[in-house]
Amino acid sequence: MVRKHVTGPFTIPVRDLVHRAGEMREHSFEVPAPEKWGEGLVSVAEGETVAVDVRLESVHEGILVSGDVDTEYTGVCGRCLTDIAQGLQVEFQELFAYPGEDEADFEVQDDHVDLETLVREAVVLSLPFQPVCQPDCPGLDPATGERLTTSAGAELSQPADPRWAALQDFTPDVPRSRGDDPTEES
Ligand SMILES: [Zn+2]
Repeated sequence: MVRKHVTGPFTIPVRDLVHRAGEMREHSFEVPAPEKWGEGLVSVAEGETVAVDVRLESVHEGILVSGDVDTEYTGVCGRCLTDIAQGLQVEFQELFAYPGEDEADFEVQDDHVDLETLVREAVVLSLPFQPVCQPDCPGLDPATGERLTTSAGAELSQPADPRWAALQDFTPDVPRSRGDDPTEES
């Protein structure tokens, strides 16, 4: 997708590099994300700070753009739906070709390069498809919908069928602990 008119927070002038192969320049900037990036469980919110370090190299075919993005995504854990916010670093590299010759995904336009699409795609592609609040998130209890913790499960001690409770009364092997622990009462 090439825009006809290039203006925007991700647009960098490259007039001093155009057709001067071998020249190189580095550039750093921070801009708010112009819109929400990502459609999954997590995304980079509109207005979130997007920090870009970029190196612009003039090559024969155009301007080679490489760099890295540092931002933060927010959303919910895919297992327990807790809100999460995580830093995200991603690298990118793309050639912005001079217009007129071969069809290119990115082109130098009016002595500028617009990095917005490039940066957005790099960020969106690196967003986790199944984000988790922590690597061993136990998720939700399928019965209650509550968030599971390590102590969960202790509440599920009621006998499902009273006949089993009656059977337990006549089974000498079942240890009994009357009075001490109410979860053991049947
Ligand atoms: Zn979780």
